[in-house]
Amino acid sequence: MSTLNVMYSDEMLKQQLNDQGLRFTPQRLKILKIFQSLPRGTHWSAEELHEELLAQAERISLSTVYRTLHIMTRMGILRELELAEEHKHYELNRSPSGQHHHLICVHCNRILEFAEAGVDKIGGKQADAMGYHVLDCQLNLYGVCPDCQNQRH
Ligand SMILES: [Zn+2]
Ligand SMILES: [Zn+2]
Repeated sequence: MSTLNVMYSDEMLKQQLNDQGLRFTPQRLKILKIFQSLPRGTHWSAEELHEELLAQAERISLSTVYRTLHIMTRMGILRELELAEEHKHYELNRSPSGQHHHLICVHCNRILEFAEAGVDKIGGKQADAMGYHVLDCQLNLYGVCPDCQNQRH
């Protein structure tokens, strides 16, 4: 993976956490490292991340994982994707200015990514007008994928 894709260094994470009055912990760094090492297009649930942490001999509770995912999403490091109510997946926020968007199948939870400059443009325009610094711009389309449509006939 190119280092250009990796937005956050250890120092940046530390600085941002400190700025928000949050502690920089080895576990938070580990979670960042794991997301940075995942291939593009990987969207993980808290449970999947928790399993990987346990596999790496990290002693961490699922509730700490949930909390950390929430914090890192609010910081703009991760993107949160709601597949269904209370069923969220996370991915690394690689490029706030040129994001990809998602097509989500509500039957099988398949996720397709797509880029659409028009969406980013509209989002950027609104943010500029209101004086916002954009952390994420995400369009989620919920539907039924072709495979699931065929199975219903
Ligand atoms: Zn994605
Ligand atoms: Zn489907």
